[in-house]
Amino acid sequence: MHEATITSALVKTLLAEATRHGVTHVKRVTVKIGMLKAVEPQALSFCFNMFAEGTIAENAELVIEHLPPIARCRGCQVQFKVPKFKFRCPDCDDTNLEIIQGEELFIDSFEI
Ligand SMILES: [Zn+2]
Repeated sequence: MHEATITSALVKTLLAEATRHGVTHVKRVTVKIGMLKAVEPQALSFCFNMFAEGTIAENAELVIEHLPPIARCRGCQVQFKVPKFKFRCPDCDDTNLEIIQGEELFIDSFEI
């Protein structure tokens, strides 16, 4: 499962960060996920609980914030929110785009 691999890595990062700061219990974790990652939030929460069990992040609430895809046209440099995955410049109709947001997946913050 796609989400299991992602969550396993997320929990590892979280635990490493928490340990580094001397944290003994994590209450809430906020992750930011680009919508192009096509991650299923329910599956992610399920996997998170599974990997967090028995760790300092056990029972922590997982908050998922979705980052909408944003692209920049290489032709006219216009920057725009990609509507429903239509990868085409709204100004010049070019398809030569640079994705500047939408593919990330990281822990934004956590609360103790
Ligand atoms: Zn353009």
